[in-house]
Amino acid sequence: MDRLPHWINGAATQPHSGRWLDVADPAVGATFAQVASGDAADVDAAVTAAEGAFPAWSSLPSTERARWLEKLADALEARTETFARAEARDGGKPVRLARDIEIPRAVANLRFFAHAATQFASESHHGQAGLNYTLRQPLGVVGTISPWNLPLYLFTWKIAPALAAGNTVVAKPSEVTPHTATMLGELAAEIGFPRGVLNIVHGPGADAGEAIVAHPRIKAVSFTGSTVVGRRIAGIAGPMLKKVSLELGGKNPTLVFADSDWRAQLDTIVRSAFQNSGQICLCGSRILVERAIYGEFRDALVKRAIVLREGDPLDEATELGPLVSQAHFDKVVAAIARARAEGGTILCGGDALPRPGWFVAPTVIEGLGPECATNREEIFGPVVTLQPFDSDEEALRLANAGDYGLSASLWTRDLQRAHGLAARLQAGIVWINSWLMRDLRTPFGGMGQSGMGREGGMEAMRFFTEAKNVGIAL
Ligand code: NAD
Repeated sequence: MDRLPHWINGAATQPHSGRWLDVADPAVGATFAQVASGDAADVDAAVTAAEGAFPAWSSLPSTERARWLEKLADALEARTETFARAEARDGGKPVRLARDIEIPRAVANLRFFAHAATQFASESHHGQAGLNYTLRQPLGVVGTISPWNLPLYLFTWKIAPALAAGNTVVAKPSEVTPHTATMLGELAAEIGFPRGVLNIVHGPGADAGEAIVAHPRIKAVSFTGSTVVGRRIAGIAGPMLKKVSLELGGKNPTLVFADSDWRAQLDTIVRSAFQNSGQICLCGSRILVERAIYGEFRDALVKRAIVLREGDPLDEATELGPLVSQAHFDKVVAAIARARAEGGTILCGGDALPRPGWFVAPTVIEGLGPECATNREEIFGPVVTLQPFDSDEEALRLANAGDYGLSASLWTRDLQRAHGLAARLQAGIVWINSWLMRDLRTPFGGMGQSGMGREGGMEAMRFFTEAKNVGIAL
């Protein structure tokens, strides 16, 4: 059976404890690999390697750092098919989605931040008191912790700006989907990426993850994952006064107005609900529909949902794969049972599929109000609710009900309404007549229980640097 080691100081490294974790294939529900079960000792070894590499890496001209990131991007791009298949097997993601979107986006992350390294500039101020200029210096060794839902995409989304800004990194991918990060470590070694600059430590969050957060020589931590874990990380990092960026859960609203071109846009609205089986933090899981079109929209949505092709992630025709793990499957199935208990009507789906693996049928629920747990708590599966509204104010009230504030999409042809509501929605990201339209320069992140801080573009470059002002009398 495949055993996935850490990558520390440019070399495959066995876990210090000798322990390994099972990695399951969600399409069949059985173990197919093992991954190093890292702990504080492994993290410490990775920090030592990263410290050793920091002086040389941080003093390279930014053009040289950019060249290394481009080289890694080229190598990854050349292996898109292998990485896409690995991602499909590991997390149950349809291979087409991995090949067409997610691995190319991982390549794009590396390229984008290679360019950012060469474009990053700082300010100078003069005219009030002497001449002031700001240095933005790398922090040193930084930690990144990423989830299973977009494994390589979110892994590279963090390591790329960290490296571009001149830091060295200890990165922990999710123990649930460790393959592609390991393969990237291998690829880095193959192309001669400077040793110790990118270190990959696997393992459970409670061991390897917390060891990264608590390590006194790791200067900052960029985390993407659940709100519960984000709070715990903030609790550890707070007293240490350690810089953290937290990208957390969501319960995103989709607002569909009667004047929208919703019939033509239904494909995108369906994708926004069910892509990756709803396991994308930006999926719209609460669909709010203007009453005048509610019945017609509901019927059209259900008609589309029931024909989504669920199946083997490695099959080209598959549109929806299984959920990622037994634990997550149990959580989603329990959330559907809770929706029934709360009085919701299941319009389609509502059950696991009668086949091996962790498949849940696309599920649409109506009849539940904003106060129900079903409409307040993140489910993170192929499960959406429908709620009707009668006015813009009611739509806004429903959209803003709840503690999360990651993203929202709104569908209307009325420009004034669109911009007016966008300004009042409690969300870090608002899409108008679109969904998941990404420009890597824009700030990315959420409000409230969806997180703290922003990633993307220069926001990420600033997070991974320390600003130092230098003033000289003139
Ligand atoms: P998770 O919080 O369980 O785990 C995320 C990562 O944190 C994993 O690598 C895990 O090993 C690690 N971890 C777990 N416990 C830890 C601890 N005590 N200390 C340090 N690290 C720890 O999340 P998940 O189940 O892997 O991912 C799904 C969640 O991620 C959902 O809530 C989803 O909304 C969220 N998410 C958010 C965004 C965003 O950009 N806001 C993007 C993707 C996913």
